[in-house]
Amino acid sequence: MSCLFCRIIDKEIPSKIIYENEQVLAFEDTNPQAPTHILVVPKKHISTSLEISGGDNELIGLMFQAANKIAKDRGVAERGFRLVMNCNQEAGQTVFHIHLHLLAGRRMSWPPG
Ligand code: 5GP
Ligand code: ZN
Repeated sequence: MSCLFCRIIDKEIPSKIIYENEQVLAFEDTNPQAPTHILVVPKKHISTSLEISGGDNELIGLMFQAANKIAKDRGVAERGFRLVMNCNQEAGQTVFHIHLHLLAGRRMSWPPG
């Protein structure tokens, strides 16, 4: 299996796991862009947001619920945090297994770079 995040999900590649349930895994990003930078991924392989189908509606909701729980547990929910999903090249997607970036712990600028 060549997908990096599928290999992390299967524990073939180590990661700093923050949260896990049957459908979702969350782990630290190895190149953090904020004091908190966690990736929330579905255990099901979906390559980009364009491949999300109606059958994935619950799964996508579970990703957001996991992100919210992590933000609350970390104490950053009230201050604020950013959830980002990049899609394809111009947006900067480099790993083709969908993931929410959970970024927090510093003031975020807008528009994003
Ligand atoms: P993208 O650019 O696709 O939106 O985000 C991919 C993210 O995965 C990047 O923030 C990058 O730092 C992170 N990343 C790449 N390789 C690894 C890895 O092997 N382990 C972990 N934990 N994160 C990774
Ligand atoms: Zn994958």
